[in-house]
Amino acid sequence: MTDCSTDVAIIGAGPGGSTCGGFLRKYDPGISVDIFEQEVFPRDHVGESQLPVVPRILNELGVWDRIEACNFPIKIGGTYRWGSSDDLWNFDFLPYGRFEDEPRPGKFEGQRQHTAFQVDRSIYDKVLADYAEELGCKVHYKSRVREIVHKDDAIERLILDDGTSVKAQYYVDASGHVGILRRAMGVEVEEPSSLKNIALWDYWHDAEWAVSLGVGGTRIQVLSLGYGWIWFIPITPERTSIGFVCPADYYKASGLTIEDLYLKALSEEPRLSKLTAGATREGTVKTTKDWSFIASRMSGKNWFLAGEASGFADPILSAGLSLTHASGRELASLILEARRGGDFGWMCGEYFRRNAHRVRQHIRFADYWYSANSHFSDLKAHTAEIARDAGLNMTADEAFQWLGTGGFVEEDMEVAGYSLIRIDQLHVITGKLSGTPSTSAIHGFNLFVLKTKNAEEVKIARFGNGRVVSIRALKRDGKVLPLNGLFGWVIVGLEHSPQLDLAMSYLFEKMSKVGHWDTHTSTRLIECLDAMIRDGWVKPKVSQSIPVIRHILPTESSVVRNNE
Ligand SMILES: Cc1cc2nc3c(=O)[nH]c(=O)nc-3n(C[C@H](O)[C@H](O)[C@H](O)COP(=O)(O)OP(=O)(O)OC[C@H]3O[C@@H](n4cnc5c(N)ncnc54)[C@H](O)[C@@H]3O)c2cc1C
Repeated sequence: MTDCSTDVAIIGAGPGGSTCGGFLRKYDPGISVDIFEQEVFPRDHVGESQLPVVPRILNELGVWDRIEACNFPIKIGGTYRWGSSDDLWNFDFLPYGRFEDEPRPGKFEGQRQHTAFQVDRSIYDKVLADYAEELGCKVHYKSRVREIVHKDDAIERLILDDGTSVKAQYYVDASGHVGILRRAMGVEVEEPSSLKNIALWDYWHDAEWAVSLGVGGTRIQVLSLGYGWIWFIPITPERTSIGFVCPADYYKASGLTIEDLYLKALSEEPRLSKLTAGATREGTVKTTKDWSFIASRMSGKNWFLAGEASGFADPILSAGLSLTHASGRELASLILEARRGGDFGWMCGEYFRRNAHRVRQHIRFADYWYSANSHFSDLKAHTAEIARDAGLNMTADEAFQWLGTGGFVEEDMEVAGYSLIRIDQLHVITGKLSGTPSTSAIHGFNLFVLKTKNAEEVKIARFGNGRVVSIRALKRDGKVLPLNGLFGWVIVGLEHSPQLDLAMSYLFEKMSKVGHWDTHTSTRLIECLDAMIRDGWVKPKVSQSIPVIRHILPTESSVVRNNE
């Protein structure tokens, strides 16, 4: 290659790099973007099971139809053997109703807006990189970045393996767990969890489940053993990813080889033996370990971290690609806004705040998930240690509140939730894991008084459509409340009356007039109120002159229920 000069140089053509590059070119066809990838695609990669936020981003990027055309299994949720009982239970993404099989390829509409994909990364990553190339990014394969030349916090150039020098206005580290630029810039990482796991996986062909179920509504299967858990993810009609995760210490103490431990785990899971009957293995167990971390900063003078280079939680939540695509999308908006003269320091601060928050929430949830699993009979000491380090107490209500330490307000969606899980679903999940349902924050009260005084009014960023706009929000004790969206409406309602029925009928009238009311709005508003109470924005009270609200949360719902 001859020396290169470009507007944005991206290291890595995985989902983080191609999402960032694709969005940059989509929203500014004049910008030059060069992506440097050490491998030649297609290449295999772990991380196949998505959450529904990913297709939304793919749709905005304009690549959803191409991914759909690959005929990857549609993911409608997960099937778990996890928590307080032996029963298998399902968690479904569709908030209402059940998934109906429909002809494919489909469109990103109706029920498909709530589903995700389980993808063969060798195909998926190539489709994304090819699409970024079509949008105008130059993707250089077999181009490993060897060195980052920098002066203090400013990068001067990259040097590739063949000696080529690359100069850019901005540099993006999307090199995944390698984090080549992050390491070169001496960015420290925080490891807020004692999860120190190892994963072993291989690919299987013609596994029974993949063949009989096809590519319609599939679920990731997450099956606990005494000493770890197994994932089963059909990624094409013929190919299935089967992995095993356990604490790295357990693996060391077992004295088994990687291969023997993998086979032992699979043979001890009866459901899996049935699912893999007649299937053949590709034959090399892949392995990786120690993945939980958050970068202590995600930008410098002229560089940024995106995707897994900036942080990762744990495979248990299937959240890596969500975090990766989200950060790639936001970073593209940030860079474009910076080139228009936007407030660089503020935008970088917001980019870090949001991305670090997301990873931290996922790590917190993973800690809870591991420590609330009674099936880990051989790992009691290990899970007790995670629980102790995390400060976890195992009653559902306390665990629920602990999960919300970072806040139950989902800024991205402007709804109440936690790591993309709506607050009502979260109640049911904590019930499933701990054996007792947690309690709604509005139950037993009838007046809801706003407590927004003494909060600082701040501007938070909304990234999208290639722009970064500021929206008003309140901040107190590390919690943030956007003043728009449904939260803004709750404030309007409670300013009208602290009595919930009066506030809701006022909102019904106001929101209907502007076309903001549909059949699910009242449920969503109640969820927002629940989140606002938990985050301290609203104080629930009891008036003796009116009946109190009974809001009993189910142990099962259409979204979380026993597997039939
Ligand atoms: C065991 C395990 C299971 C997981 N399961 C899931 C799951 O079920 N669902 C999910 O959503 N996520 C999962 N993940 C996370 C998921 O794999 C990652 O979040 C995702 O791959 C991150 O994408 P990325 O683009 O940031 O990095 P990557 O996909 O790793 O891409 C980085 C690219 O950079 C290239 N590169 C690296 N160094 C250089 C260099 N010096 N020069 C040039 N190129 C370079 C690499 O070749 C690679 O192609 C899992 C992770 C692990 C560890």
